[in-house]
Amino acid sequence: MQTYSYYADGKWLEPANGEYFETENPYTGEAWAQIPRCNEKDVEIAVQAAYRAHHEGPWGRMNPSERGAMVRRLGDAVANHADRLAEIETRDNGKRRVDIHPGLTSWLIDSFYYYAGMADKLEGSVIPTGRDEILNYTRHEPFGVVAGITAWNSPLLIAIWKLAPALAAGNSIVLKPSEFASASTLELMKALEEADLPSGVINTITGFGAEAGEPLVTHERVRKISFTGSVEGGARVAGLAARSIKSVTMELGGKSPQLVFDDARLADTVHGVCGGIFPPAGQSCIAGSRLLLQAGIYDSFVEKLLEVAKRAKLGDPNDPHTSIGPIANKIHFDRVLGHIECARQSGATLACGGNAVNPGGATGWFIEPTIFTDVTPQMPLARDEVFGPVLAVMRFDTEEEALQMANDSNFGLAAGIWTEDHRRALNLANRLEAGTVYLNNYFDACTQSPVGGYKQSGYGRENGWEGMRDFLQTKSVWLSTAREIPPPF
Ligand code: NAD
Repeated sequence: MQTYSYYADGKWLEPANGEYFETENPYTGEAWAQIPRCNEKDVEIAVQAAYRAHHEGPWGRMNPSERGAMVRRLGDAVANHADRLAEIETRDNGKRRVDIHPGLTSWLIDSFYYYAGMADKLEGSVIPTGRDEILNYTRHEPFGVVAGITAWNSPLLIAIWKLAPALAAGNSIVLKPSEFASASTLELMKALEEADLPSGVINTITGFGAEAGEPLVTHERVRKISFTGSVEGGARVAGLAARSIKSVTMELGGKSPQLVFDDARLADTVHGVCGGIFPPAGQSCIAGSRLLLQAGIYDSFVEKLLEVAKRAKLGDPNDPHTSIGPIANKIHFDRVLGHIECARQSGATLACGGNAVNPGGATGWFIEPTIFTDVTPQMPLARDEVFGPVLAVMRFDTEEEALQMANDSNFGLAAGIWTEDHRRALNLANRLEAGTVYLNNYFDACTQSPVGGYKQSGYGRENGWEGMRDFLQTKSVWLSTAREIPPPF
């Protein structure tokens, strides 16, 4: 079994308490590596290293073009190690290999290149104060030390959404990946060493939320926290951060609706709806997990949906022919099965799936693509995030009813609209309470376009210019050219 170290101050370190925990391969259910169980002593080492790198080292004072060139080298390093990163991501969290490489890895590389180009374009403004003897201008400045706390469903992508803009903005960073999938972030550190950034600019500590996450969140030298995870975790972190008035970005969960109208193109829409939830086994924050069908097409749509869902081939996430991989960890596997049982008991109709399976004799954690029909807005399945391959199908008659049902949620991460009436689509896009709205497609995203939540799905944005702005603070500088300052009294 492989034993990892954690990464701080440009060194690979053993955890202060000498303790490790096991990480499992979700395809086999077997432990394959040991991850350092860091505590507040390790956090102290990492944060102080990041602080020195920013405040004493060259990083904080570096010419922005030079800094941009370094961030670009991080993209080159990912490109050089893309195969290895994809292999470890699949082994540790069960993500399909074909989804990671080349698709996801090219996105990771682009993120570094995109933000590298922004590093020397952070222009402030001269403010028209209306006073000739005053020059007032703004500067965009980094926070100093930032913390990036990430979830287990897409560790590399989420880490780089934080790393690339944070570094290009001139911050140093301490990452804390999920205890359920830390290995790929540690492998990423190995790859990024090749870019030869100053020690302490990038650090990764591993471990549990309470033991490693909380000392990081509460550390006085950390001034910004970018958190991706559950609403419960986010609420706890936001509360702790508020005690020392830290800036916080929250990327949290979702229960995203897909609205399908009678005039939607049937086959394309079924493909889009299935593709919007099942391939990552529903383990995507923007999974379109609530399907709202207009009454006129309800029956024909469900029939076609079941036909397509039943075609899915569960299996080895390394096999390019696998359509759905495993659930990433045992605790979550049990939780998803609990949601399915609860949906059964609350009166929804199980139209397909619902079972744990062992495709090809696999010993890991697989759940069939599961579709419940006759779901009503009050049922837990319509309200709670399952984060698994479970689709809740609901019926509506009018556009207003669809809108009301779609917005009747504590979440507001994404929404999809399927219709050939573009006037209706654009009107609804304006009225849906969601950070991302898809019209006749689902799941698209890119480095240039901001993502983030409304309501309890969070605040702040990742990607695009807004993703950069989240890692900057604005200073307003006032200069007087007045020949004399008059006495105040
Ligand atoms: P989680 O909240 O349990 O954990 C997320 C991270 O926070 C982990 O690294 C964990 O160790 C850490 N953490 C937990 N408690 C902490 C504490 N008290 N102090 C500091 N750190 C703490 O979430 P999860 O189960 O890992 O992730 C799944 C959730 O993430 C889902 O709700 C999903 O929708 C969401 N998610 C959101 C996005 C997005 O961009 N909006 C992306 C991916 C996942």
